Amino acid sequence: MSTTDAANLTDLPVLASHASWRGFALHSLVIVAVYRCAVCDRSRDSAMVATQESSDEVICPKCFMHLARTEHGSSSAGRPGRHRAGP
Ligand SMILES: [Zn+2]
Repeated sequence: MSTTDAANLTDLPVLASHASWRGFALHSLVIVAVYRCAVCDRSRDSAMVATQESSDEVICPKCFMHLARTEHGSSSAGRPGRHRAGP
């Protein structure tokens, strides 16, 4: 039973999908599912998975957190500078 890892969200029993965040969406599963992560390409099992908005490929929570953190770091929200408009 270990050769049939799901790799797409459509193969998994989704309980609820959460609003997408930075291009990713999180999904709660009805069960702890075994799947293949599209990022690290490893067999994972968890009750929550992530996907990219444009794809059904499943991403494990670890990779999701890594990706989300990387995205967050590269485009920091504060945008300093541009506050010296006056003379
Ligand atoms: Zn992964």
